[in-house]
Amino acid sequence: MNLEHINALKKLLSAPKKIAVIPHKNPDGDAIGSTLALWHYLKSKGHETVVVAPNDFPKFLKWMPGAESVLNFEKENTQAKNILHNAEIIFTLDFNHLGRVGQMTEYLEKAAAAFVMVDHHQEPSDYAEIMYSDVHMSSTCEMVYHLLDYLDATDDITSEMANCIYTGIMTDTGSFKFKATTSTTHRIIADLIDKGADNTAIHSRIYDTNSPSRLHLLGCALKNMVILEAYNTTYITLSQKELDQYKFTKGDTEGFVNYGLTLDNIRFAVIFIENKEEGILKISFRSAGDFDVNNFARQFFNGGGHTNAAGGKSDFSIAETISYFESLLPQFKKALTK
Ligand code: 5GP
Ligand code: MN
Repeated sequence: MNLEHINALKKLLSAPKKIAVIPHKNPDGDAIGSTLALWHYLKSKGHETVVVAPNDFPKFLKWMPGAESVLNFEKENTQAKNILHNAEIIFTLDFNHLGRVGQMTEYLEKAAAAFVMVDHHQEPSDYAEIMYSDVHMSSTCEMVYHLLDYLDATDDITSEMANCIYTGIMTDTGSFKFKATTSTTHRIIADLIDKGADNTAIHSRIYDTNSPSRLHLLGCALKNMVILEAYNTTYITLSQKELDQYKFTKGDTEGFVNYGLTLDNIRFAVIFIENKEEGILKISFRSAGDFDVNNFARQFFNGGGHTNAAGGKSDFSIAETISYFESLLPQFKKALTK
């Protein structure tokens, strides 16, 4: 974050403000962890602060300190709209274009607040006057730690904040294994443990709270896996019917796509998940090495993300989408098999 923006932020926060902190739609551990950590901090400094999420988030994140105070724009709509309308500052965390907040987009577009972006995705748009955008960062949670450092506030990190920040770094790095995990990430993690992050409890609350039906759904997903050896590619499909059969609830398919990459030689793993209510397929792309799934998702599936993890959508049926997807692969054969 450059000095000019740090100073502008310090100035903005020098007197008590009305602040909204926003994660992206379908918030994950990094989005909820970063917004809640910042929420704890801003409240402790006397700012009237609310986290407004575009929609609900999975049960395995609900234990996080402050999670019960998150406003759900879909459910608490009038209250949420008022907060966005009256906010003097809006922090947008873990996303970088306003289309990522679903129905909330138009209310952010017409909000009078000063916008602050903290995000690690590629190709940020320019809606924020204060920007902290760094695509090399492991997670937005790691950036919140650095942000607090820029504000000379790491001593103000409470154990609640430490638990939130730890969670987002852990989930966005695949438990500290992805490429963006640096020695600095580990130093921050060490400091968070010193400040009260309960690492063992966090791992178990996030990863060891499966329901039997979720594991059965995983079994179904793995059975549906198709391997395209010629392209070192694998994909999974899940239809609405299958989701219903295994009593799908929000968050149940989180991480399924990563199983594809555990196959020897596989460079590109994809999951297509039908959502009848929204009339779309939600797609997740993952890659190992330098095949750029952010570009792929942007170019062909109205999405984006990072080099090795991105998302997108399709308005077509599973069969039509798969046949389109397969038709795209020959042009990437070299990149996928070199
Ligand atoms: P996931 O596949 O887990 O939903 O998302 C992987 C990464 O891509 C995350 O960093 C997420 O924020 C980003 N992402 C997911 N869906 C979309 C999308 O539709 N558009 C953009 N720009 N990014 C997405
Ligand atoms: Mn993130």
